[in-house]
Amino acid sequence: MKETEKVPEKKLLIVEDNQDSRELVIKILKNRNYQLIEAFDGEDGLEKAIAEQPDIILLDISLPKMGGYEVVKNLRLRKEFKHTLIIALTAHAMKGDEEKALKAGFNGYISKPINVHVLPDQIENYAKKTI
Ligand code: MN
Repeated sequence: MKETEKVPEKKLLIVEDNQDSRELVIKILKNRNYQLIEAFDGEDGLEKAIAEQPDIILLDISLPKMGGYEVVKNLRLRKEFKHTLIIALTAHAMKGDEEKALKAGFNGYISKPINVHVLPDQIENYAKKTI
């Protein structure tokens, strides 16, 4: 197959302060068609999002320095992020959380602990919906 026939890589930013969760996500996604970027707290996530302009952002809700809700709010105020796929990662998934996440500007959410078998499909399904 010629290089030009390859599906272009998508740039994916993972914003997660927990090292184990971050490494797990990277391990699951690294052999797929993503260029992966890591951020370690909310401020770092916001800065890297603006600098790198990722196609997809996996954004933890509970983060040092700036929480996920604050980060998504800041991003959605910028016109270049109006249509970026931003998915919340949350360990506290309860009834009503999805609605809250959608209202805040997330396209959807993935609950933790991350399921290694379904994560790639979860991301792809959200990507299809937002095209
Ligand atoms: Mn966290």
